[in-house]
Amino acid sequence: MSPAPTKRYWTIRASSIHNRGVFARCDIPEDVPVIEYVGERITKAESKRRGDALIHKSKKTGCAAVYVFTLNQRHDIDGAKGRNPARYINHSCAPNCEAFIIRGRIWIYSLRPIKAGEELTYNYGFDADTWDEHPCRCGTERCVGFIVEEKQWPKLLKKLQKVEADAKLGKLGLNGGGSTSRRKKKGA
Ligand SMILES: [Zn+2]
Repeated sequence: MSPAPTKRYWTIRASSIHNRGVFARCDIPEDVPVIEYVGERITKAESKRRGDALIHKSKKTGCAAVYVFTLNQRHDIDGAKGRNPARYINHSCAPNCEAFIIRGRIWIYSLRPIKAGEELTYNYGFDADTWDEHPCRCGTERCVGFIVEEKQWPKLLKKLQKVEADAKLGKLGLNGGGSTSRRKKKGA
């Protein structure tokens, strides 16, 4: 019983969210596998090594795209190399797709019926602890401003409220000032 799509549902073109995106080339029914996220299967140790190298690169060049997808407790999938059009799917705070892991493979499923021409999106599921490293430009009404797993939105909100409170105190000169520009970068 393979979840392979019965037809090619997608096409790649320029996106208003970010760079290139993946779009529905025809109407897509709800709850079907739209595209597989393929890549190299790597151990967590290798994944960490590549992640560290990317952080190093981004500090030098200001940009580095991460295409590592968590597969299970021991392995990840690095979709950066080779043919993996699913890597162009952008994040959204109101996504129309979701990633599922089925027997060691990653499938992007439609969450609802999708009209031809709509951009395909899913929630990248990033951790709230690294929120300020990943601003979101999905432009939806539900946008929380950062790429964070929906389950962790309450945690993100608390962090944002704290930043806002700190900024207000800074403006009033109650905490020595300057706190608005003093954003901590965790994990970098
Ligand atoms: Zn958003």
